[in-house]
Amino acid sequence: RLTKDYGLEIWADDNFIVQKDKLHINYKSSPAIYDIVQKIRKDGLRGPLLLRFPHLVKKQRDLLYESFQNSIDELNYNGEFNAVFPLKVNQFPNFIDLLLQTKQNYRYGLEAGSKAELLLAIYKSNDNSPILVNGFKDRELINLAFLSAQIGQDITLTIEGIHELESIIELAKNSNMALPKIGIRIKLHGSSVGAWAKSVGANSKFGLTSTELIEAVELMKKHKLIENFHLIHFHIGSQITSIDPLKKALREAGHIYSDLINLGAYNLSTINLGGGLPIEYSQTKSTINYSLQEYANDVVFMLQTIAKTKGVDEPNIIIESGRFVSASHAMLVAPVFELFSQEYSKNALKLKEKNPPIIDELNELYEDITKENAREFLHDSFDHLNSIFTLFDLGYVDLIDRSNAEILAHLIMKKSIKLLGDGESDDLLRVKDLIQEKYLMNFSLFQSIADFWGLKQHFPTMPLSKLDKKPIHSANLWDITCDSDGEISFSEDEPLYLHEVDLENEDYFIGIFLVGAYQEILGMKHNLFAHPSEATIYIDEKSYEITKVIESASILDILDDLAYNKDDILLRIKELINSTSFIKANDKERFKRVLENIVKENGYLKTID
Ligand code: PLP
Repeated sequence: RLTKDYGLEIWADDNFIVQKDKLHINYKSSPAIYDIVQKIRKDGLRGPLLLRFPHLVKKQRDLLYESFQNSIDELNYNGEFNAVFPLKVNQFPNFIDLLLQTKQNYRYGLEAGSKAELLLAIYKSNDNSPILVNGFKDRELINLAFLSAQIGQDITLTIEGIHELESIIELAKNSNMALPKIGIRIKLHGSSVGAWAKSVGANSKFGLTSTELIEAVELMKKHKLIENFHLIHFHIGSQITSIDPLKKALREAGHIYSDLINLGAYNLSTINLGGGLPIEYSQTKSTINYSLQEYANDVVFMLQTIAKTKGVDEPNIIIESGRFVSASHAMLVAPVFELFSQEYSKNALKLKEKNPPIIDELNELYEDITKENAREFLHDSFDHLNSIFTLFDLGYVDLIDRSNAEILAHLIMKKSIKLLGDGESDDLLRVKDLIQEKYLMNFSLFQSIADFWGLKQHFPTMPLSKLDKKPIHSANLWDITCDSDGEISFSEDEPLYLHEVDLENEDYFIGIFLVGAYQEILGMKHNLFAHPSEATIYIDEKSYEITKVIESASILDILDDLAYNKDDILLRIKELINSTSFIKANDKERFKRVLENIVKENGYLKTID
């Protein structure tokens, strides 16, 4: 398990490659990420860094369109394929601009789930690409949609309940504006899998039951809105790693689609498949049992078969894939700030003239350990360490003895790992677990990988340099928040081994990958750590360009964001400096300048250079 490539062949999708000692971007001039990071940091920028790669946005988007087009061509399918990006997955301008910039010939649209997202969609949609609106709606939101339709945009309000349809009917009656198209989210009975399984079934939050669907069609017919009804939508969850629930949902949706047409929904022409396409996050095993092409084939084949059987036109297909399109485009680079393991070096031992016998025995074990006896000595050292803890609790040995025992036991463990090699016996794994090296990383886990905290979602993690050396430490990653949850402990399922580093003389950066979906907007300001600094990296045949560098918010701006008055903060602290007798009069200006310099900087840690 002490792999040097950190499972790249499983999760990296050929996007990254190890060359000599560094991790490179496997595209055109293939620069080393480490070098890019150093270039950005050259001017003094410190803290975590989010890197965006435009070519990966394009790659995923093209893959989506090409896979469905392949299936459509292969089966002579009569419907069209299109996609919209669900804004909730990443609303950040430097991502959205990339997404829309790389549209080329597609009518790639946007999906909105709130008034703010709808405003953004209206602002960003200028070429008649579709806008889909999901989620709960009030009259204001519906009004915004009417406005969008009136200015000529292709907008669909997908209703989540009958009352929303009633509001649309009401507004349509009282206004002479153009009407948005109408979609309906259907409630599927089929079950889903994974963390978002709540998205389907009779008790799911969203969608209309079959009885409500029939009622909705009646209502739309009665109020002469049936011609606006063109789409049904379902979404069975995110990160669907098995194809079975998707197939089940498709079958159900295909039949509902056909039956609604046969009930008089004569303009119904589109099925919106929602999201759910998964991303491989694991570094140790493949967790997804189907490919995008297989999914596209299944969708097209199944919808074609059902449409034929029921004598209706083959539906157009829309997908709202978010994670699949955006996850890989962004990675986080977290500098290692400090190591917390020095206390276990041999020079920290404070052996006494007369030590308790167990300490002497531990010392002998350490001196005499060989490959042949390593396993036995290891067990003995565990045993002795436990005895020392008991003796300490009873007051028979003191803190110095306890410290000596801990150091010796750790030294024995380290030596036995070396002697026993890369084996995976339970003992050895247990030892590796026990002697984890603690790497303090200059980032906030709550801000940058919120789903690790919330869902225990693993994100591929690896160092960006030293890849020609064997990583020998089982690693425990700490973030810089004052929260014990801000830790990625060494895990048996996704073990991470890192290198011996000398931070006095070298930088060691850890990359956390596939953070482009959900993480940025879910990020929490726990301890007032803000969105990391970011940069967008364009790579060409010869070199690369670092663009759109935005530094993480300054300390003052973070407080301003909480509605504190930043001028007042500075004024007050300067007054305190003026009025104190603890600072000499001729030092006061200097203290004020120091204060001003600090509050202008971002809130992450800085090493003293
Ligand atoms: N569409 C809807 C309605 C959703 O709720 C979501 C996510 O939860 C998505 C699309 C995007 O899903 P994914 O990121 O799995 O593609």
